[in-house]
Amino acid sequence: MTDTKLRVSKIQSGTVVDHVTAGAALHVLSLLGIDGHDDATVSLGMNVPSDRMGRKDVVKVEGRELSDSELEVLSLIAPEATINIIRDYDVVEKRQVERPDRVTDVLRCPNRDCITNAGEPVQAAFAVLDDGLRCEYCGEIVREDVTDYLQN
Ligand SMILES: [Zn+2]
Repeated sequence: MTDTKLRVSKIQSGTVVDHVTAGAALHVLSLLGIDGHDDATVSLGMNVPSDRMGRKDVVKVEGRELSDSELEVLSLIAPEATINIIRDYDVVEKRQVERPDRVTDVLRCPNRDCITNAGEPVQAAFAVLDDGLRCEYCGEIVREDVTDYLQN
């Protein structure tokens, strides 16, 4: 058995999010609403050596397959992530995350004066650019620290 296998054991069924940007694993958990107070069995590998990325994080969530909308948001914080769906210890599906054209109700706008922060019934919506996200209401751009503005 190799070191890598020892570090992060196989799961029976669920989702393996591999090639997560090093340091982003905890943000992936928060994105999935996992805070340790639920029953989800989760394995984390942080700063695992990777041929492709140097260092990467790996997140394994048992008993859960991620939805398309969860994958969209994942693409914003871990653009190189690969998704393996596991059933009975076998990989039944491999997916790349894809960046959507826009996301709604996922991020808060950093601009305090933005109408989406004014308690109005307006859904925060961002256009996804190559190098960031642009609020559709006030034009504010989020480039880094996307996870600081996650709504949950
Ligand atoms: Zn805004």
